[in-house]
Amino acid sequence: MSLPEQTVDGSGETNGLWHPADLEGLRARYRAERDRRLRPEGTGQFGSTLPGSAFADYARDPWSPVTPREPVTGDVDVAVVGAGFGGLTTAAQLRRSGIASIRMIDTAGDVGGTWYWNRYPGVACDIESYIYLPLLEEVGAMPTRRYSPGEEIRRHAVTLARHFDLYRDTLFHTEVTAVRWLDEEDRWQIGTDRGDSFRARYVVLSGGPFSAPRLPGIPGIDRFAGHAFHTSRWDYGCTGGGPGDPRLDRLAGKRVAVIGTGATAVQVVPALAGQAGHLYVVQRTPSGVDVRDDGPTDESWWASLRPGWQKERRENFQALVHGAGAEEDLIGDAWTDTAPVRGTARLAAAAGAEDPALAMELADHQKMAEIRARVTDIVEDPETAAALQPWYRQFCKRPAFSDRYLQAFNSDRVELVDTRGRGVDEVTEKGIVVDGTEYPVDAIIFATGFDVGFDVVARTRGADLRGRQGVALAEAWADGMRTFQGWVSRGFPNLFHLGTSQNTYSVNFAHTLEEQGTHIAAVVAEAERRGDVLVEPSAAAEEAWQHTIATGAPIAEATFAFDAECTPGYYNQEGRPRRGPQFYPAGPAAFHELMDIWRRTGGMDEVLGTPARTRDGGQERA
Ligand code: NDP
Repeated sequence: MSLPEQTVDGSGETNGLWHPADLEGLRARYRAERDRRLRPEGTGQFGSTLPGSAFADYARDPWSPVTPREPVTGDVDVAVVGAGFGGLTTAAQLRRSGIASIRMIDTAGDVGGTWYWNRYPGVACDIESYIYLPLLEEVGAMPTRRYSPGEEIRRHAVTLARHFDLYRDTLFHTEVTAVRWLDEEDRWQIGTDRGDSFRARYVVLSGGPFSAPRLPGIPGIDRFAGHAFHTSRWDYGCTGGGPGDPRLDRLAGKRVAVIGTGATAVQVVPALAGQAGHLYVVQRTPSGVDVRDDGPTDESWWASLRPGWQKERRENFQALVHGAGAEEDLIGDAWTDTAPVRGTARLAAAAGAEDPALAMELADHQKMAEIRARVTDIVEDPETAAALQPWYRQFCKRPAFSDRYLQAFNSDRVELVDTRGRGVDEVTEKGIVVDGTEYPVDAIIFATGFDVGFDVVARTRGADLRGRQGVALAEAWADGMRTFQGWVSRGFPNLFHLGTSQNTYSVNFAHTLEEQGTHIAAVVAEAERRGDVLVEPSAAAEEAWQHTIATGAPIAEATFAFDAECTPGYYNQEGRPRRGPQFYPAGPAAFHELMDIWRRTGGMDEVLGTPARTRDGGQERA
């Protein structure tokens, strides 16, 4: 592969390592690309699909009918809001620690979270399935491929729910609308949009970040007379085929526009190419698309794995991708060759000789130069190839991986409509308008992402959440989020958050969630053992955690991706970040180690000091 716009000659090298020929020129180009993409409306350019909003119809469940049921009352031990992998793995760990009555609640018609909703053709995990799929060893499951198809992942969620007996009390197609602490009873009262009203001693909030699809507020979007749908609510009635059935026979001879070129579109476009009569791929910002290298699982390798292998493999991936570094690379895919991994290795090799920020930046430039060169190597038409090249640092957008996406543009039935950062101008009755040209189409598919809720309040989707003395969570955090270790907060006893804020994250989000679930389940088990306590951090512990979060040098990609310098996207709130990232500064490996030590060395006393008023006070079991 050649790196056309860079040189590696003597004058361009630093410490014998690769350096772009014109660093300032490259930086200026990145800034110009960002600037042309900035929009004055920021996040306001999108329309929500939440209940009651303009695009609510786009969020209707195509996978299972909403069936009438009677409202439920009574008491449960734990209510888990959200039945994706976060809720499922937490509930599984709670079940293992002996909690009898667990109720999972979800707006979907079954478990699986994002994998319940996203059943578009081509959907698959872009993290190696051996480290992504939770609790593989516990349930004795083997992924069929290195990157499992979405349907296999969804079925794994069902397997977990069955294995840990989590279906018993579930409420599906149900939105939690109120979670209120009853001061006199030491219980949470939960209300839903189905008229349910029940109590729980503990509540786990695990609404994922991608639960509500979003639509771009393009003028005329309601006028379109053909089929229009969002990728997370795929209309197989329009396209033919089905989840697991790739033959989209109803698209034969049809003109289709896919709006958006993010990680979802990179999977959808190859699945549509060659099946639609003509496919327009409407681009605002190109994704950086690296090698995928998928294949079936090697069964003899699988049989050779020893107990504990998944934890070891996950930790190895996390150490490599998130700044800790590791001597060996067990995964060996394009994630473990991303820019931060190279930058970390480069710094280790230079041993203090380099400016760390510059070293990370140079590693990034090299990686992105290779990704741009990959485009020109694969895409035959030079104009299309130029338009598909990304000009930003790698973690400004979720890196994408495909061995079929760029290749799809070599088909004369696939056409890139590059909007040069501006997006679609208008939707008409017949199609879309870009730069004064109307493209008549039969179907518009919005691969335009989700209302991403990074913070806990956003993820409650407007539910009325009130702690002690009726204080709303949004009010308590008006000046910013306040938690202890990201999962529990003073004034909101026995209420737990899964997520990344004041906590940690990995691109292998299923790993992060399982660690959090394990932690929460261990604390609940200890609270149950002591019997007369609530889980609530002391004021001193919460204050000390605020200090920990606010100080320390954050790991490199965490600072950069959320920065205004990046090309706009959901990471940096469309180029206008309101708050800096709130992660544990030293990264996920250090965070998980800290949690482990905390649990083993008496840390629990920091959250188990509040006496409970009541213990079993007249619970009516569900
Ligand atoms: P994204 O938000 O990443 O992408 C949305 C796309 O729509 C972008 O290309 C955006 O352009 C484009 N867009 C928005 N508005 C307009 C407009 N008005 N005109 C034209 N284009 C527009 O959503 P995705 O669904 O692709 O991905 C969301 C997340 O889901 C990923 O970041 C990833 O975390 C996760 N995911 C994970 C997968 C996995 O395998 N684990 C697979 C797929 C997704 P622009 O970039 O300019 O904003």
